[in-house]
Amino acid sequence: MEELLEHIRRTYGGLADRIQAGFVERPVTLRINTLKTSVDEVLFAFAREGIAYERVPWFSDALIVHCPQEIIENTPLYQEGHFYLQSLSSMLPPLVLSPSPGESILDMTAAPGGKTTELYCLSGGKAQITACERDKYRFERLKFNLGRQGATRVYAMCRDAAMLDDFLKFDKILLDAPCTGSGTVTSTDIRFTEVFLAKCVHMQEKLLKKALKLLKKGGTLVYSTCSVLKEENELLLERTLPREAHIEQIVPPEGIPLLPSREGTLTVCPDKLYEGFFVARIRL
Ligand code: SAM
Repeated sequence: MEELLEHIRRTYGGLADRIQAGFVERPVTLRINTLKTSVDEVLFAFAREGIAYERVPWFSDALIVHCPQEIIENTPLYQEGHFYLQSLSSMLPPLVLSPSPGESILDMTAAPGGKTTELYCLSGGKAQITACERDKYRFERLKFNLGRQGATRVYAMCRDAAMLDDFLKFDKILLDAPCTGSGTVTSTDIRFTEVFLAKCVHMQEKLLKKALKLLKKGGTLVYSTCSVLKEENELLLERTLPREAHIEQIVPPEGIPLLPSREGTLTVCPDKLYEGFFVARIRL
């Protein structure tokens, strides 16, 4: 933990205390699967069960639930895939990618599938989504979640995304990259080292270069991590993006706690509701 805090202090100076104060447990949050149910139906069921909730101003499908996770997981609505437990920050990248019916979309590092199923849902189940995941065990989780959420038209493949054939081309790509997880810390029991950070950056660079090859000219790539470290975020983009790619302005949804971030990108500051997260939208 001390090595991470030291790194954060070097990068963010006086803001480091605010970041550290956000390393806390957060309430359960979820995204309603509007392909299987409606927001009103879920609200009605929660009111009937006495489950207290709050709405999220920037996303009508999201709820903050004041109830232990085990209780939520035992509800028939959860087990039938009427909602998906997902952190609020991690709902941002699919919203920023903004999928439309008919578009070909690659979710490069997809398991366990929160963002894949959100993309599917946002497109009304009408985008052609390919979800890629390298890890066999996590791939099984992805397939399970796709099934439970009814994302039947997603094509899932267990592959190293860095090895995908450049012949493939997509209108939109989500690269929710494997990272140090520095934005999701909730206890002092974390393994962060500078060597681990360097390994993550190496992997992120490889995947980002591949994403740029797989994106159609004029296509959109969303790059995200659950990290607040600039090496995994802005610095990686600055070093890797070619001249013809540009970072498009993301308008931050109201009420989200932000850290200083490269022009146009979002770095969410961890706090009692939000995980630390980075999101950038790139147009080729
Ligand atoms: N987007 C997911 C979601 O919302 O549920 C979370 C993705 S998680 C941050 C990163 C994932 O990338 C992990 O499941 C990891 O196994 C996978 N991964 C790492 N390297 C990969 C690679 N080269 N190709 C495909 N998947 C990879």
